[in-house]
Amino acid sequence: MNVAAPVLEPGATIGILGSGQLGRMLALAAARLGFRCHIFAPDRDSPAFDVVRESTRADYDDEQALARFAENVDVVTYEFENIPAETAAFLAPLVPVLPDPKVLATTQDRVAEKDFILGLGIGTAPYAAVATAAELSDALDRIGRPAVLKTRRFGYDGKGQAAITKEIAPEAAWREVGAQPSILEAFVPFAREVSVVAARAADGRVECFDLTENEHRDHILKVSRVPAAVSDATAHEARRIAETIAHRFGYVGVLAVEMFVLRDGALLVNEIAPRVHNSGHWTLDGASVSQFEQHIRAVAGWPLAKPIRKGRVEMTNLIGHEVDDYRKWLIIPGTAVHLYGKIAVRPGRKMGHVTRLFAD
Ligand code: AMP
Repeated sequence: MNVAAPVLEPGATIGILGSGQLGRMLALAAARLGFRCHIFAPDRDSPAFDVVRESTRADYDDEQALARFAENVDVVTYEFENIPAETAAFLAPLVPVLPDPKVLATTQDRVAEKDFILGLGIGTAPYAAVATAAELSDALDRIGRPAVLKTRRFGYDGKGQAAITKEIAPEAAWREVGAQPSILEAFVPFAREVSVVAARAADGRVECFDLTENEHRDHILKVSRVPAAVSDATAHEARRIAETIAHRFGYVGVLAVEMFVLRDGALLVNEIAPRVHNSGHWTLDGASVSQFEQHIRAVAGWPLAKPIRKGRVEMTNLIGHEVDDYRKWLIIPGTAVHLYGKIAVRPGRKMGHVTRLFAD
């Protein structure tokens, strides 16, 4: 039995599993509303620890540490969706865990996720589950090339993915993803990529932020622009898709739905992130309420805000050594600089972001 969703008072403590920049920005938003946060994560030195009152550095399977954590917080949420299912299952009878951990079982497995989306009557790229190199060859015959092979679990920012063009031997792609259970997807010749960041409260109310257009570089989000350059009909449909998904999960908190827009304006869902999302960072400076505050409001049982966008917004990630230029951004009018406090700079590592506001 899971513990029922709470209604918290200021001064209550929100437990967060995960200690990255998303946890840091959640904790900052929680502090503004008078909450305290307690971070639980195995990492030694990561962004969220700097801004919270309490932290537990322990492994996700350390039941003693998890039990103590559950005793010391009023609700648990996560900033990272690859939390072991057993961790959430261990905590759920002890303390409210939001969003419900059953969402993780669907979103941690790309095949279960796509089955769920299709089951809602929402489009995805054609796909097939593959468990062996031979199954990959059969699936390629059905799905055709170009295609993308992705590991079913634990992929992010393009990790665990291989493009299969005409020249690539299936065996090479199979080895590239580590010869593990995978999904083969048809390559989508998309016109643009967009995402909806939506918040759902326990009472079923949903508030969506304006549709965001995303540009990736080397599979990592580089720039988000709002509003997305799509028709009103496409923006409306994207929002309907996110609402449908949130309702079907009985979701409490913020989720993001990433989609491909085809040339005719049709939408295909690529993936669901059951958490605050990089493509929603613009809301910190570009909207009357941020995705982080909406998530905290939802898990605290507080009413959601109706987000009002402040203009045209562009968010740029500072990846790897791009962060060294932070001084350049500091002096550009209308620009907000966010640095995550990460000490080690590594290629591909998200070190911070900047948001620029323009008249609409
Ligand atoms: P993912 O890890 O699934 O979010 O994929 C990362 C990025 O790879 C996406 O944002 C797309 O730019 C690209 N990508 C992933 N899947 C496909 C696909 N089936 N067709 C075309 N591009 C894709």
